[in-house]
Amino acid sequence: MKSDSSYPADHISYQLVIRVHKDIRIVAGALGSCNFSAGDYVYTGSAKRNLDARLRRHLSDTKKLRWHIDYLLQHPHAEIVRIETSTLSECRWNQQLQGSIPKPGFGASDCKKHCGSHLKQISALAT
Ligand SMILES: [Zn+2]
Repeated sequence: MKSDSSYPADHISYQLVIRVHKDIRIVAGALGSCNFSAGDYVYTGSAKRNLDARLRRHLSDTKKLRWHIDYLLQHPHAEIVRIETSTLSECRWNQQLQGSIPKPGFGASDCKKHCGSHLKQISALAT
């Protein structure tokens, strides 16, 4: 998917809806190995400045792997299928989202609100 829209200036948070097409296992840097069953996941993050650039980075295939989510998104069976943006703080938005946590700590290195993870599984795919 391409990012070619710009987002309202007061939107500071984003959610990536990620489809994992098959059961996969990745090693996400220091967090170690993580298993993801086929399904849809939502990653919640924020960029107080330049949301466009951040989202373009997430969509890019050529980047240095830095965040946990980078390791998931570079997997050939994982893809971003939708992006939402919001004025809500990332932690509040993440906590409002119903879902299960596949890997405690994933995407939550900078989280100070005890989210547990900034990646949640919202549905499973039949395999
Ligand atoms: Zn949080």
